[in-house]
Amino acid sequence: MNRGILVDEYLQTNIPDVFAAGDCVELRQPNAGRRAIEAIWYTGRMMGETAANNILGAVSGAKSPVRYNPGIWFNSAKFFDIEYQVYGDIRAQLPEDQATLYWEHPGGKKSIRLNYDKASGRILGFNLMGVRYRHEVCDKWIARGTPVEEVLQQLGLANFDPEFYPQHESELVALYNRQTGKSLKLKQKRGLDAVLAFLR
Ligand SMILES: Cc1cc2nc3c(=O)[nH]c(=O)nc-3n(C[C@H](O)[C@H](O)[C@H](O)COP(=O)(O)OP(=O)(O)OC[C@H]3O[C@@H](n4cnc5c(N)ncnc54)[C@H](O)[C@@H]3O)c2cc1C
Repeated sequence: MNRGILVDEYLQTNIPDVFAAGDCVELRQPNAGRRAIEAIWYTGRMMGETAANNILGAVSGAKSPVRYNPGIWFNSAKFFDIEYQVYGDIRAQLPEDQATLYWEHPGGKKSIRLNYDKASGRILGFNLMGVRYRHEVCDKWIARGTPVEEVLQQLGLANFDPEFYPQHESELVALYNRQTGKSLKLKQKRGLDAVLAFLR
């Protein structure tokens, strides 16, 4: 042990056939940019799947071990009426090589932040307060390194608020246009068919 129970990339401890998963875990070699201890329930669930797979494989001998891969960082929380989501690389202090687009609703209870690479424009992360964006869509944009301008024009794909909630994606596009002098247009409004086609 260190601060947590030390495990390798298969979530195995130093004792054969003993695995650990969840809040108690400290990874010996976390992926680049990730922490050795990530005590949140999404990672706990992914670790549980990995450990279960490797325990069953070890018992039956039939399966090769699976590496723990938490993918692109994400989390969400609901605390009373405050709801937030984060996908990708959103730091407390904006790194020099990143740019940010921040929109806030006049009511002060909703905000959307998009962080992107200054040089290439590729999208790096999303942070949302009081607005829901679809995890799979944001994850795919980040994984592909989609340019922020393409993301903005397709932003309706991400909207995951309940039906009939106000949609603010066009306000983000307008804000970006004001800040950059561009004239982008929102091409994609929310719609399940378009989302499914995008994710296929
Ligand atoms: C207030 C709070 C808010 C949170 N909000 C979020 C959030 O918004 N989003 C998010 O992703 N994560 C959140 N988390 C973190 C998330 O709850 C944990 O990451 C997750 O529950 C960890 O799951 P786990 O199964 O690893 O451990 P746990 O859920 O802690 O389960 C461990 C279990 O082991 C039992 N136990 C302990 N010792 C023994 C023993 N000797 N014998 C038998 N049983 C034992 C405990 O009673 C417990 O039931 C929050 C945590 C807290 C405390």
